[in-house]
Amino acid sequence: MNFQYFVPNIEKMPRRKLEALQLKKLKIQIDRALRASFYKERLSKAGITSSNSIKSLDDLKKIPFTTKNDLRNGFPFGFLAVPKEKIVRLHASSGTTGIPTTIYFSREDIKQWAHYMARCIYGTGCTKSDVFQNMITYGLFTGGLGMHQGGEEVGMMVIPAGPGNTARQFKMMQDYKTTVLHATPSFLLHLEAKMKEAGIERESLSLKRAFAGAEPYSEDTRRRIEKLLKIDVFNSYGLSEMNGPGVAFECQCKDGLHIWEDGFIAEIVNPDTLEPVKDGEIGELILTILCREATPIFRYRTRDLTAFYTEPCKCGRTHRRLHRITGRSDDMLIINGVNVFPSQIEEVIMAMKEVGNNYLIVVEKDGALDKLIIKVEVGPDIFMDDSRPLNALKDKIKENLQVSISIRPHVELHENGSLPVTEGKAVRVKDNRPKDV
Ligand code: AMP
Ligand code: ZN
Repeated sequence: MNFQYFVPNIEKMPRRKLEALQLKKLKIQIDRALRASFYKERLSKAGITSSNSIKSLDDLKKIPFTTKNDLRNGFPFGFLAVPKEKIVRLHASSGTTGIPTTIYFSREDIKQWAHYMARCIYGTGCTKSDVFQNMITYGLFTGGLGMHQGGEEVGMMVIPAGPGNTARQFKMMQDYKTTVLHATPSFLLHLEAKMKEAGIERESLSLKRAFAGAEPYSEDTRRRIEKLLKIDVFNSYGLSEMNGPGVAFECQCKDGLHIWEDGFIAEIVNPDTLEPVKDGEIGELILTILCREATPIFRYRTRDLTAFYTEPCKCGRTHRRLHRITGRSDDMLIINGVNVFPSQIEEVIMAMKEVGNNYLIVVEKDGALDKLIIKVEVGPDIFMDDSRPLNALKDKIKENLQVSISIRPHVELHENGSLPVTEGKAVRVKDNRPKDV
């Protein structure tokens, strides 16, 4: 397939035509999904036995929501809709417990993903003359490879830098004359602080733009990064269940994120009643993917809170815009761009017999970055005056948590019975980061 950027006949398609295209693609997804054991059962129960059961986009509402828990229960292959030989890659993200949510891609799926990603990148004004330093984690996490493929599709020179090591990042920026960055907003702020420390002159760099996503941030934070680094910052939204980055992105108007409606059907519902909210009201984003054959997913509860813009965008694109994500309707924490569920931490800590019954998860800012602190009470048989076993226990807790949540936290041990106990529902998480979204 030969994709072109940008694609005016799709990106500026009249809504009526766009909706007709969505319906056509939805029907294809239904026929594909009926080959996956999870959806065969789920769709049949809803009275959907073939794409003929779907007559209008409204019929999508016959399908119940799909949750992270469903994906977990379908692990490893319950959502797979193609023969295993057709899979060329998988990506996985953390689940609420040890079972990862795993998404499989065919060769065509990877191409499609790169296409949507490239549209996003092109929409910010990048061209093949740009040099793109991708400072996001590669690996099972979708941010690195997803954005990388899109960059190549646009024809930019992509530097697969990965995160961390700011000295090395600056060296690459100078050596290769990087013009575009991709990172979490916190890492971009951290980079700026390190730049000052290292005495690097902004003028020695060729930076023009940055894509910032993977965690919520405010308009003020965007402006601050733009001012400090003298670049344009574009908000990038995606989630691994919907491929990863490339779902919604800001255009050059920087006023809301266009969601590619020929690739995804977006609904926004009240997270309590699960009824649709009025246009412009905040609710939970529900997504159906139309551009992936290996792992179709219908009406996925993203848990991300946002709203549709009601006015059309000045850029002329007809695909609707989402408000920047304002929070989540569950307890998932995002720590330096990594998703962590408190239940994952609890599972690790409570499996250790040396540990008491009470613990507290604290998240703070350490400069521009997030810091995770786990306060744990030791068991009643452990004495606080002998430091050797205590240090060994601390290390063991850190190791076990790193394996489970991919973050090495700071661990504080407390005497048995010394952490505060709340009356009623226990408060296990204290997120002390400033709330400026
Ligand atoms: P993952 O599946 O690991 O890629 O994480 C996806 C989650 O990260 C989303 O469901 C959001 O909660 C969060 N996220 C990703 N991009 C953004 C963004 N631009 N703004 C706010 N939150 C984001
Ligand atoms: Zn626009």
